[in-house]
Amino acid sequence: MSANCPTQTTPRTIQLAGVVNDSITDGPGIRLTVFVQGCPHHCPGCHNQQTWDFAGGQPTTTEELWQQIQQNPLLSGVTFSGGEPMAQAAALLPLAQRIKQAGLELAIYSGYTFEQLLNLPDPAVRQLLELADTLIDGPFILAQRNLELNFRGSENQRILKAAASLKEGRPVLEEAERWH
Ligand code: SF4
Repeated sequence: MSANCPTQTTPRTIQLAGVVNDSITDGPGIRLTVFVQGCPHHCPGCHNQQTWDFAGGQPTTTEELWQQIQQNPLLSGVTFSGGEPMAQAAALLPLAQRIKQAGLELAIYSGYTFEQLLNLPDPAVRQLLELADTLIDGPFILAQRNLELNFRGSENQRILKAAASLKEGRPVLEEAERWH
């Protein structure tokens, strides 16, 4: 490896399904939601089936997404959703770092449970979790659908404090009223 050939440890682009600005449904406050493309879970009843195909979507750079975030002074946070964000953990890391450096909240939806995430082989998954404030975990289960839940589709999904959960090695529920 020469000095002119840097190691590429992080993918340059995020495979993107879409962005929703000024969202009030993906966490408290006004948020920008990044919907990544590609999901391995295929939950029956999923409302985002167009995001399942890993070959779909548009390659998008961290810089492009960061520009959109910066242009909205009303944002209290950013949410990664999908699709399955943890399938693109390495690609999302640089964006997550910028979000946190700017003092914005970061929430991540995953179809994996917290316990499953700890056992995924990709080290970027844990690194991404370390940057998150909140993890909403678990697949959408149609039989447990509850339209009265805030920020969740089904009863099995949990709203977790990411840092506390990592520190304790177990899911720690977010009990702040604004998340419920
Ligand atoms: S994890 Fe989310 S995007 Fe993936 S199939 Fe389930 S509900 Fe749909």
